[in-house]
Amino acid sequence: MSSTHGFSENDIRPRELMAEKQKYVDADLTYLLSRHAEFVEVACPACDSQKEIFKFEKSGFSYRECLSCGTLFMNPRPSQAVLRDFYATSQNYQFWNRHIFPATEAVRRDGIFRPRAKRLSDYCRKFGVTTHTLLEVGAGFGTFCEEMRSLNLFERIVAVEPSPDLARTCRARRLEVFEMPIGEISASFTADVIASFEVIEHLFSPYDFIMQCASLLKPGGLLVITCPNYRGFDIATLKTLSNSIDHEHLNYFHTESLPLLLQRCGFELKEVQTPGTLDAELVRKHALSGALDLNNQPLLREILVERWSKLGQRFQDFLAANCLSSHMWVVGMKIAVEGRSSL
Ligand SMILES: [Zn+2]
Repeated sequence: MSSTHGFSENDIRPRELMAEKQKYVDADLTYLLSRHAEFVEVACPACDSQKEIFKFEKSGFSYRECLSCGTLFMNPRPSQAVLRDFYATSQNYQFWNRHIFPATEAVRRDGIFRPRAKRLSDYCRKFGVTTHTLLEVGAGFGTFCEEMRSLNLFERIVAVEPSPDLARTCRARRLEVFEMPIGEISASFTADVIASFEVIEHLFSPYDFIMQCASLLKPGGLLVITCPNYRGFDIATLKTLSNSIDHEHLNYFHTESLPLLLQRCGFELKEVQTPGTLDAELVRKHALSGALDLNNQPLLREILVERWSKLGQRFQDFLAANCLSSHMWVVGMKIAVEGRSSL
């Protein structure tokens, strides 16, 4: 698909780099599995229910689905200590930071970060929030913060980035950086808006994370989270073939279960959207390679293969507009007026 959204999967994940990346992913997998004895059992990350059903295994990890809310989650999962060691030493992360992100930043800036900054600004206006301080948790290269700065909407923009390598990149871009996990941010700091893109699916405890966000937000402040939507088209169709289901992603919320978690943590749900652009292309690739058999799904075959040039983009637009894409945005407003929690 020559996407009207400005980028294809190959632009943001170039084929040659992705092929080289595989050996680092394999090294990461081997490391995590070597510490399997330290994995721990958890309740549902969205609703805290302990009623769950085994769904499948992939690459040696076990995934279960909550019988109450339908969230999929890795269980058992690496402990907090294992995750800390994993992200501090991950070869795959180093490779992304040193090669893939730098090689693709221009197209990511145009295709992902600029639209992301615009969408966040639109939410701020739509919900009438104060725009003094913006905090981004997991700022990475700092590209989103740079784009927000260029919009001149916030007086202060703070990048939370615990990884020393990435924090250095953010500082080189003259961004204000908190080089620490969100839980260590000073109790005197408050934000009007907290944004976190593609972070929550990696976390041991999404509940603790959302509560930490709540404790840093002013009442009436906005929390904006993006992550994969487990019930979106590419994940629901590809299942274990989906690259979204991997060893780094512990939590697979959907358009009802992430709102549930926000509400448990004292947020009023303001918006759920799935402005994804890649679902159809990702499923089509698997069909073309033969990994996904569409012989018994003639309608999908017609849309994704036979009439792709005419229907592909329209189909993707339909998915995005109807909360059926696998890329999800959830926006909540802090309603609790109480002080900080003890978290
Ligand atoms: Zn649940």
